[in-house]
Formats: sequence, C-alpha cells, structure tokens
Amino acid sequence: MRKEKLINIIIFGLIFMTAVIVLLQTYSLNHTLVVNANTGFNYSAISDGTNGGQSSANIKINGDQMILECEIVHSDYPWPYCEIAIALNDLENENDRVGFDLSSFDTVTTYVRFEEPTHVGIRLQIRSYNPAYSSLFDEGSWKYNAVEYFEHNSTYPAKIPMSSLQVATWWLVERAIAVEHSAPDFDHAMTIEIATGNNIPAGKYRIIVDKLEFKGKLFSNSSVYIVIILMWVLSAIGLMISHLTHSREALVNAQKRAKELKQLNQILNVKSRELKDQAERDPLTGALNRSGIKNVFDSDFSYIDPPNLSLIFIDIDHFKPINDTHGHNVGDLVLKSFAKLISEYSRNTDLFARWGGEEFLLACPNTKLNEAADLAESLRHEIEGYDWPEGITLTASFGVAHKQADESPSAFIERADKALYAAKARGRNQVVVSKANSKTPAAAA
Ligand code: GH3
Ligand code: MG
Ligand code: MG
Repeated sequence: MRKEKLINIIIFGLIFMTAVIVLLQTYSLNHTLVVNANTGFNYSAISDGTNGGQSSANIKINGDQMILECEIVHSDYPWPYCEIAIALNDLENENDRVGFDLSSFDTVTTYVRFEEPTHVGIRLQIRSYNPAYSSLFDEGSWKYNAVEYFEHNSTYPAKIPMSSLQVATWWLVERAIAVEHSAPDFDHAMTIEIATGNNIPAGKYRIIVDKLEFKGKLFSNSSVYIVIILMWVLSAIGLMISHLTHSREALVNAQKRAKELKQLNQILNVKSRELKDQAERDPLTGALNRSGIKNVFDSDFSYIDPPNLSLIFIDIDHFKPINDTHGHNVGDLVLKSFAKLISEYSRNTDLFARWGGEEFLLACPNTKLNEAADLAESLRHEIEGYDWPEGITLTASFGVAHKQADESPSAFIERADKALYAAKARGRNQVVVSKANSKTPAAAA
C-alpha cells in the first residue's frame, strides 16, 4: 500500500512538473535584446552615395532614438536608398569578429517610423556571416536576411517573426550560394540595417528608430521537451529499479519467513508429540496412562489378524500398609521401581500401562494365553524376589486373559480384571488365567 502511494505521489509530481515546465516555456522564460542608440553597438548612416549614387544620409541621436535624415536622389544607380547600419561586432577586435547570435530569438519588434512622408516601405535586414560562404572583410558576402513592410504607422511597433525574414534572391544568384546555405541564418549576425524600401521616390525622408526589441525563448522548445521526456524516463527507470529491488527483498523475506515457519512447525511437532506423550503417560512411573493404553487398544492392534493379544492385569498386594508404615514417598519409590522392573522384564513389543493407583496392565501382542501366563508367573517370581527399598517384602497378584474374536476392548479388560480379582480372592501373590467363555477363571499351572 505504501509503495502504491509513493508511485501515485511520483506520477502526480511528474504531471505537475510537466505542466509547470510547459506553462513556463509557453508564457515565461523569455529573453530579450533591446537595441537602441545607447545599447553600445556602433551605428552609421549609409546611402547609395557609397555605391556611386547621389543620395545622402546622416544620423542624429536624440536620447535613445536614432534619427536618419535622408535625401533620395535618383541617378544612374538603379536602387537608391538610405539606411541605418548597426554593427553588432567590432572588426578591429579579433575576439569579436564572428557576429552576434540572434538565432534564439523568435520575434523582432521594430519601433521604427517614417516621420515624413509616410507610406514608404521599411526594410529590415540582418546581415550574417558564415565561413561556408562569406568572408569577414567582404561585407558583400554577408547574407541578406531581409523583410520589407508597409503601413508601418498603423502597425507601430511592428512585431515581425524572425521566420518572416527571407534571403534576398539577387544576393543568392550574385554569390552563387549553394542550396544548403540558402535559408535565413542568424548565428553570426554582423549588422542590423533599417533601410528605405524599394522604388522610393526622390525626396527628403526622416526615419526615427526608437528601438528594436528581439524576443525569444531562453531554452528551445526541443531542449525543454527533451528535459520533460528525460524526467519521465528516468523516473520510470528509477521506479522499475526500486520495484525490482523491493520484489527481491520481498522474495528473500518470504523465503526467510517460510524457513522460520518450517522451523516453528518442527518445534510445534516436537511439542505436540511431547504433549501427546504427557497426555498419554503417567508422570510418576513413565508408563502409559489409562487413556494412552485405550488409544492403543482402539487403533494399534488392528494389524493383528486374527487378534492374538494377551493382557496381564497386575495389582500390588497390600500396598496401603506400605504407605501407612513408610510414608507416601517410599510408596511412590516402590511404585517407580515396580514399573521399572516390569518394563525391563517385558518385551519391546509389550505395552505397559498404569491403570490406576497400584494397578498395572501389560498388553502383549502376538502372545498366546499360555505364553502370557508364563510371563505373568515370571514377573510374579521376580517381584517376590526383588530387593525392595527399606527391606520391604512385596508381592503382586496377576489376572491373565487372551482376546476373543469379536470381544470389545472393555469386555476384554474386564475379563482380565476378573481374573485378577480371583487371584486376590484366592490369597494374592498368584496368577489367575481367564479361560474363554468360562465363568470361573483358573489359576495358572
Ligand atoms: P490389596 O492387596 O487388596 O490390593 O490391598 P491394597 O492395600 O494394595 O489395596 P487398596 O486398594 O486398599 O490400597 C491401594 C493403595 O494404594 C491406596 C493408596 O493410598 C495407594 N496409592 C494409590 N496411588 C498411589 C500413589 O500414586 N502413590 C502412593 N504412595 N500410594 C498410592
Ligand atoms: Mg493392591
Ligand atoms: Mg488396587
């Protein structure tokens, strides 16, 4: 969830940044160059007099204004003109010869007007140098990027897109310029010229130049869009890397967790076995308890087919007096030793349980009745001869039975219990065998 939130924030941030950048690029982030009498460039008045014509021109400065006073005289020179030439660099200075870069400007606004007479064309020319086709010291080789406009008084100031400036065809022809260089070019602007238009009638003119204002984007549209695309692409790459790292971490964590769970499961299995053991075992003697042996009766003996199971019921004789004479602790000790003795003496396949108090039960799978009776007799003998603590003399009585077909576990146990009861009744310290279907159990031979 947290990660999705982060992605949403990043995407929202990117959209916001993109919108801000596009808005800034469209409505702001401009740069401006104002050219007037005080900008610091050199300006001069030129007329066709320099080309052999008879027109004359001179320039006056009034504050920021440049005022061109011009007299057009028609003569043998076919294209009479006057102009203000603003030199954008100093040819005397070796470091400043390559002109002024105007290529980043989109528009030029000309604050230029004819004072008298009006309705004469104004030509704006930007002359540019390019080592591919021109020489620094041959002005005629500088490209003529020009536009001529009329009705200047109604359009003052005239906002002219830089793309409206065209390269003069006569210059392309005269200089035999290659096609690839025939487009307008403002990289190395050498002069800006404000001139009288074509076919100007003879007479006196005053051209007032308040200023020229170049405007353009601080950064080109293409570079701004590249920045936006890079911003998105880098963010996407960043998100992908973070996603991959997180996935790997998640995988490692999941594997670690699975391992932990497996270990936990093993621990729980051991615990559950321990608990099952505790539930099924008598804590004092370690023998199975009553529910433990019952579970065995209900399940484990199902593999014996036909059932060949014998049961020996054992009860310590006169145990109560031992407690009374030697104390409960000695009684416990005797119970423990008793259980240990029987466990050791019986076989691994036999199941030994404490049925209650000082009563025990030994279930012997795959044991015939006479074999079980023999085992009981041996046990009786061992008990009788054992070296009990505190010099106690101990005997036990035994009831033995063999499982009948279709006999329920409880009926079977009850039959063995009856045999035990008979052993007690007959004087204790003896083995009584329950004969199947006989009402009176028989003493062991
Ligand atoms: P019998 O020969 O008829 O079996 O006589 P008995 O004294 O053995 O039988 P009884 O049922 O009268 O007494 C059993 C005694 O076993 C009573 C009780 O105090 C004792 N007992 C039962 N469980 C424990 C035990 O966990 N520890 C100890 N120390 N004594 C126990
Ligand atoms: Mg007893
Ligand atoms: Mg008893």
